[in-house]
Amino acid sequence: STEDHTSLVSGYLQHIADQCAADDSGRVADYIPELAAVDPGRYGLSLCAHDGYIYSVGDTATEFTIQSISKPLTYAMALGGHGADAVDAKIGVEPSGEAFNEISVDARRRPRNPMINAGAITAASMLLPSERQVAPETVEAAFAGLVDFYSACAGRRLVVDEQVYRSERATGSRNRAIAYMLDSFGALTTDPDAALDLYFRQCSLRVTTEDLAVIGVTIACGGTNPRTGRRVFSRSTAQRLLSVMTTCGMYDGAGDWVTSVGIPAKSGVGGGILGSLPGQLGIGVFSPRLDAHGNSVRGVDTCRHLSADLGLHMFNIT
Ligand code: GLU
Repeated sequence: STEDHTSLVSGYLQHIADQCAADDSGRVADYIPELAAVDPGRYGLSLCAHDGYIYSVGDTATEFTIQSISKPLTYAMALGGHGADAVDAKIGVEPSGEAFNEISVDARRRPRNPMINAGAITAASMLLPSERQVAPETVEAAFAGLVDFYSACAGRRLVVDEQVYRSERATGSRNRAIAYMLDSFGALTTDPDAALDLYFRQCSLRVTTEDLAVIGVTIACGGTNPRTGRRVFSRSTAQRLLSVMTTCGMYDGAGDWVTSVGIPAKSGVGGGILGSLPGQLGIGVFSPRLDAHGNSVRGVDTCRHLSADLGLHMFNIT
């Protein structure tokens, strides 16, 4: 019966949670006080199957900021709004092998991919009008559209963490440097400050592991949220997201991730990891302590276990 099945899966997820609980290595992000203050012992894990059914264990109601897991979603919006050719002209799809906040571009002076900050800020800039001075109300309106889109992916109204947003904005010198460098190359067709503001806001949206699992399954199902039945983005966009998440989703640890886990994924410094297995399921995991790459230690461990136990590696040969 469904009930037996649910308790079987929940028991299995609890077993994984227990296995990962012993590892307290890594450090909570501390570049802003709000992230430094997060309880490092928190742990949540959710799976959303392609039929929309959610299985969860741990702190699955705890909200944390989406941070870099926002990057594929804003990229999806840019693709939907401008088409792949226009986006490709501005943002590459090559893994950089460098840190996410590296100030680097390719020979065509494009950010190397949409999962590093340079590419993500460029994607955000494409959601704004091509004007050198963008009014705050215009950024507000673009952000409202962004929240609608993310919320449709999650199947729930998402809300911004105002304190994190203010801190990101106040301490964002590195991102400001990236945006201004891009602007100096002519890579941004809009007001760099407006693009940054949009980027800081998108990073500050609050999510739970269940939200990440549902967003993950929406990508896995080709852009249709199986819980609401609503198409949020196209199949070709979903294929794009899965591709860039595979090659560039786990910061500079991408090769190791593909080899050992083999699930398209995106992580964020808030401690979240979103996984998306084409046609099958979405994964949301949260644990705030990060490894040297900036990926959640227990989150990576959890995905390793899931992949090995359930044969989820995308190149699993049966
Ligand atoms: N807001 C963070 C930044 O851009 C996001 C970092 C991340 O999750 O990788 O610095």
